[in-house]
Amino acid sequence: MSNLLVLSGKEVSSAVYRDLSDRIQTLKEKSIIPGLAVILVGEDSASQVYVRSKTKTFKKLNLFTKTYRLSENISQKELLHLIIELNRNPSYHGILVQLPLPKHIESYKVINAIDPKKDVDGFHPQNAGLLAIGTPRFIPCTPKGIMRILKHYEIDLNGKHVVVVGRSNIVGRPISILTSMKMDGANATTTICHSGTPDTQNHTNTADVVVVALGVPGFLDHNMIKKGSIVIDVGINRINANNDKGYELVGDADWSSIEQKASSATPVPGGVGPMTIAMLVENTVEAAETL
Ligand code: NAP
Repeated sequence: MSNLLVLSGKEVSSAVYRDLSDRIQTLKEKSIIPGLAVILVGEDSASQVYVRSKTKTFKKLNLFTKTYRLSENISQKELLHLIIELNRNPSYHGILVQLPLPKHIESYKVINAIDPKKDVDGFHPQNAGLLAIGTPRFIPCTPKGIMRILKHYEIDLNGKHVVVVGRSNIVGRPISILTSMKMDGANATTTICHSGTPDTQNHTNTADVVVVALGVPGFLDHNMIKKGSIVIDVGINRINANNDKGYELVGDADWSSIEQKASSATPVPGGVGPMTIAMLVENTVEAAETL
């Protein structure tokens, strides 16, 4: 039996929803129902699952949400028109465009078109810039959720060495900024590794906290971490399985390998995933409070 502490995103997200209920009630008393517009382009099955679980949560909390399902072949112009309409629609405090978009659409132009005050995903360059200079408005949901898990379990990063594997704009880059920011609970020395890093293992082996966000199933094993380290597994990877769905979800860490050596870790599923949705709700409530 390992003594590994499971950092449960399920548990932390329940606490987030409890905390949000008063804020939602206060808004309702002012006849404001936080609203989220979701745009889903094409038939990507993983994207459909993500959108379903996000909107299910909004409905469960009696918040307003509508999904705009668009054909794979929609033109960029039509998509941009829809965003302009949604920007003007006062029922929506948040607008989310599920990524990835089909190849003929330039994602950055679509993200740029979202009103930054409704950009609850935190991907608009204005919000990314505000985060980079240390004065965040909307923090991208996954990294924000990771910081909340650490806070809940009283894991203070001050003076710690954090190694992030992956540098995407939605996870790796923003979590590297947040962990190294001069603020309570953060203030870590952060290293960021990517596909051009020749010796990722040398970095992860010296880390107090490893954040794996690369999308490679079972990438991180016990040889890549030091004893007592904390593992934050962001990966959500579908691998073939002999069950009804035909697949199962696994992370970027090999749980059976790291559990003997790590002191705590987020599981997949039930770790970072539920926190991403909770932070989307929190950002939308925040948008409704400020718009
Ligand atoms: P992404 O955009 O594909 O970025 C992956 C990053 O990992 C890139 O920076 C890439 O380097 C780097 N990388 C790839 N292979 C590597 C290797 N062998 N060694 C070191 N670095 C490597 O992916 P993402 O959107 O950040 O997502 C990463 C994972 O997190 C995926 O499994 C995704 O499904 C999951 N995810 C989960 C949540 C959640 O809520 N739990 C949210 C978002 C994403 P380059 O930059 O050099 O290409």
